[in-house]
Amino acid sequence: MALTIGVDVGGTKVAAGVVDDDGAILEKVLRPTPSTDPEETALVIGEVVDLLRGKHPEVAAVGLGTAGFVDEDRSTVLFAPNLAWRDEPIKKKVEDHVGLPVVVENDGNATAWGEARFGAGRGQDFMVCVTLGTGIGAGIIIHGELSRGAFGIGAEAGHFRVVPDGRRCGCGNRGCWEQYASGNALVHEARDLARVAPAMAGRLLELGGGRPDGINGHQVTQAAREGDPAALECFRTVAQWAGQGLADLGAILDPGAFVIGGGLSDAGDLLLDPIRTAFENALTGRGHRPKPQIRIAELGPAAGIVGAADLARI
Ligand SMILES: [Zn+2]
Repeated sequence: MALTIGVDVGGTKVAAGVVDDDGAILEKVLRPTPSTDPEETALVIGEVVDLLRGKHPEVAAVGLGTAGFVDEDRSTVLFAPNLAWRDEPIKKKVEDHVGLPVVVENDGNATAWGEARFGAGRGQDFMVCVTLGTGIGAGIIIHGELSRGAFGIGAEAGHFRVVPDGRRCGCGNRGCWEQYASGNALVHEARDLARVAPAMAGRLLELGGGRPDGINGHQVTQAAREGDPAALECFRTVAQWAGQGLADLGAILDPGAFVIGGGLSDAGDLLLDPIRTAFENALTGRGHRPKPQIRIAELGPAAGIVGAADLARI
């Protein structure tokens, strides 16, 4: 049994695990990300690897799944807005620290690979994984392999423009898909409704402590599960954007399956049903072509760890 370590490096936390070749996590550790300090972030990655290796000395390699643009050699993070990394040679830094081979991959790609190998994408040679969280991450599997693009920075589907002159995005552009179909978009929708039409949003305001800005994503999901019409409307609005975006990706890529992950996917069928409806109403050539499956991810937040660990094994 070959063991590897997968590390998921996000803007708020570094999550790492020892993973076997069946994709099972044997041991896991979590640390806050010192996201404003690039050196400290590299050090924390080294420390969590040391800690896990202390308990599993037979670990053979390390995979890092990190936010940001990773270069084609999978060694340098070119740009990571949430980690203060600019041309960060993270592969070399971590290899020097831990003395094991290190592979670096974008976190959306690592998550897609985890789901493709061990989760909801198993058995699909051609699939797209979309993570609806703070923003939107994506990864594309073509002929059973991860598609990275020519420069290693492919599949940033969250940043295709869906609304000309729309909401400003963290990437600097306006109208990006992730401003309309992410977990943050759901919260934006709920707060907006509570501000403009408080009489309609009674339950949402109650959960948010009486203030529109107090409403969070978990509360919107909770209210929707209770059948609250305002929360359900927020889900329908976001699912409409998500389904339209998937239909656009479907028109270009024609995958066999879409796998939907991220915090928003915790809502399960509350999200999936309206996404499927929106997708089926928007797909080009609908009624005259096979439909891809649209499924909820199976590995949850661990997909990034499992995917990165497996990529280190290849
Ligand atoms: Zn953007």
